[in-house]
Amino acid sequence: MKINFTIPGYLTVLLIMIMLSFTNCDNLPSKDNVEKKPSTENKMKETSKPKVPVSQTKVSDDELMGKFVPSKHPDFVKIKSEHATKNNIYLRKEAYEAFQNMYKAALEDGIRLKIVSATRPFNHQVSIWEAKWTGTRLVGGKNLSREMPDKKARALEILQYSSMPGTSRHHWGTDIDLNNLENSWFANGEGLKIYEWLKENALAYGYCQTYTPKGSERPYGYEEEKWHWTYLPVALSFTEQYKARIKDEHISGFKGAEVAKEIGIVEKYVLGINKDCK
Ligand SMILES: [Zn+2]
Repeated sequence: MKINFTIPGYLTVLLIMIMLSFTNCDNLPSKDNVEKKPSTENKMKETSKPKVPVSQTKVSDDELMGKFVPSKHPDFVKIKSEHATKNNIYLRKEAYEAFQNMYKAALEDGIRLKIVSATRPFNHQVSIWEAKWTGTRLVGGKNLSREMPDKKARALEILQYSSMPGTSRHHWGTDIDLNNLENSWFANGEGLKIYEWLKENALAYGYCQTYTPKGSERPYGYEEEKWHWTYLPVALSFTEQYKARIKDEHISGFKGAEVAKEIGIVEKYVLGINKDCK
């Protein structure tokens, strides 16, 4: 009996050691792990900060605030139906090209990415915002117009997941929502598989999760959005341009805009993003 236990025991330890040497522990990154990462990880390094080739595309204040028509803008292209859940949505050419490369790579790994939302101009954002502001659309089951008469409190409630018109990154044509708009969907099954894949690979294609969980590193802004990804090579420059030129006072033209300054909408929300995306 002793011999029977000793030999398999030794083999088990050996097997565990071999398995551990292939295990990639995301929670405990160490120098060793980083050096052993495969080629995708090396590609990620090339595109991650500070090596992201930042586009020098200069855009107008109106463009930064979504005041243009994507279908008539020469830098935008329509997203093919195979990549999206709806028709007639647009992205900047560079962002879409990178997405298509990411889409192909994901497909090879058995992951099907789908764009749920892409560019949303100012007027589109007004319709989302005002529906929530006036109570036409419920927020967390509540009619905010009735239950939150205080304008700042009401705006902050909507701002958990929706941007004020003029402040959304969806105006830029660099940001996409993928597959589903609920964090819970990404917590298990297909959703978890997709999210894990994106966390591991998206940066290699220039895409970064803009709204990570709030905490000491990201104290302000929207709640976590596992579906929202930004194309850094262009968005980095747009973030800088926005920071330099757009002030809270410029945010106007919709119901509730008067509390933008009191909230500090540019500082807290436009710039309150994952530090790896800026
Ligand atoms: Zn989004």
